[in-house]
Order: sequence, then structure tokens, then C-alpha cells
Amino acid sequence: MSTLEIRDLHVSVETKEGPKPILRGVDLTINSGETHAIMGPNGSGKSTLAYSIAGHPKYTITSGTVTLDGEDVLAMTVDERARAGMFLAMQYPVEVPGVSVSNFLRTAKTAIDGEAPALRTWVKDVKGAMENLRMDSSFAERSVNEGFSGGEKKRHEILQMELLKPSIAILDETDSGLDVDALRIVSEGVNRAKASTDVGVLLITHYTRILRYIKPDFVHVFVDGRIAEEGGPELADRLENEGYDRFLTGAATA
Ligand code: ADP
Ligand code: MG
Ligand code: MG
Repeated sequence: MSTLEIRDLHVSVETKEGPKPILRGVDLTINSGETHAIMGPNGSGKSTLAYSIAGHPKYTITSGTVTLDGEDVLAMTVDERARAGMFLAMQYPVEVPGVSVSNFLRTAKTAIDGEAPALRTWVKDVKGAMENLRMDSSFAERSVNEGFSGGEKKRHEILQMELLKPSIAILDETDSGLDVDALRIVSEGVNRAKASTDVGVLLITHYTRILRYIKPDFVHVFVDGRIAEEGGPELADRLENEGYDRFLTGAATA
């Protein structure tokens, strides 16, 4: 059982003109086994929240706390966060030329578990997980994300999640740019992880359609760097019908 607690989080991003405040007081608690959807318009700060929790150096925490089972996440290095059980599937996964998928996964697994996985079971696990995600076995020897299509990059993110078995997974727009088949395959991967482990999921999305496949327990509407409204799955249905307009304030209202 794990709990990720975010309290009154304020974050600025470093820009050429200096620090720009993006997150303006985010409060959120995610327990093992729960799925939380964060939905919001482009530019509202969703990725900033994901990167801040993951420890991206471009984002400065100006106030607030993030804890995992009471431990100060913000004091941890990026790899300490991963070893503590946190996982981020990035909105725009980075290419790592010269590092094969196979090596990357094994290195990550070894770093997180503190020991190399037993080779026989590991090879079988990787093969099985790739088959489930309809990834051709040739991907194992390709450089991480290099020349991957958008959908292949997202499958590779979910492949990592299924093999690394985090206790808290943050999925940043894993649905963006996927066709219906890929969306279903990726969603099935998330649902497999949910069924086989007690992972708590923070599902960041711009669209409601992924929530037809991955059922959220809680929905948070994210606007202007903070949570504007919270509810259950029914809130997603309302967003589907009404859009974000009524949550937008001031100059942001079109
Ligand atoms: P979302 O993921 O909800 O679309 P982001 O977190 O990516 O939103 O961005 C939030 C805001 O922060 C946007 O206005 C974006 O332009 C701004 N921002 C993010 N990174 C930078 C940066 N490096 N320089 C300037 N502005 C940035
Ligand atoms: Mg965006
Ligand atoms: Mg984003």
C-alpha cells in the first residue's frame, strides 16, 4: 500500500525571461489501487505537474510538499524516485540513440530492483509483454524511441510500466495521437498492470475517450495550474458534453 501526497504545490518553470509560475497550489492524494484522471486544456500545467513529481530539473518547486508514504519526494534524486516506486510515462518520450530497448529495460529493472533480473524469466517476461502490446520482437534490438511512430513510443512507455511494476504511475497524455486500435492496446496494458499489481495511476489526459477503456475512480479538472473541480467518473461525462469553457477564468476565456 502506497500513498502519494501532493500538498499546496507551487511550481515555476525556468524561461529565458526568468521563472514563470505555472502550478498555483495543487492538492492531490493518490493511493495504491486508485486511478485518478487529471483532465485539462492545453497549457494548464498538466505536464508541469508530472515533471515536477518526477524531478525534472527545469521546474522549481517554490512551495508545497510531495511525499510518498511520508518520505519527502522532493528531496530525492530522479533515480531515488524511481527506486521508491514512481514511474512517469512522458507525453513526448525522448529518443536514446545507441541504447537498445532490451538493454534499456534490463538496466532500468536492475537499477530499480537493486539486482539484475533472472535472465530466463526476464526474457520471457519481456517477450510476453511485447506480444501483449502487439510490439514486433524486432523492437527489442532497436534504439529507444529512435524512428518510433507516436503510437510505438506510447506502447514502449507502457511496456516499461508493465515490466518495472511501479507503485505509482503517472501517465502523461499516453492517449494523445493514438488511433482507436492503439488506444485500446495501450489501455489494456494499463488495465493489466492495475489487475496484476496494486499500482496507483495518475492518468493525465486532454480527452475523455481513454476513460472509456480505463475507468477512473476520481476525476480532477485542471485549469490554470490548479484543480478547479473534482468528482467521480460522471465528471468526465460532463466534460465530454460541456468542454472546459465554464472552468476557464478571466483572460483565458475565449
Ligand atoms: P499542459 O501539459 O497542460 O499542456 P504544460 O505543463 O506543458 O501544460 O505547460 C504549462 C504552461 O507552462 C504553458 O503555458 C507552457 O507554455 C508553459 N511552459 C512550460 N514549459 C515552458 C518553458 N520551458 N518555457 C516557457 N514556458 C513554458
Ligand atoms: Mg499539452
Ligand atoms: Mg502536457
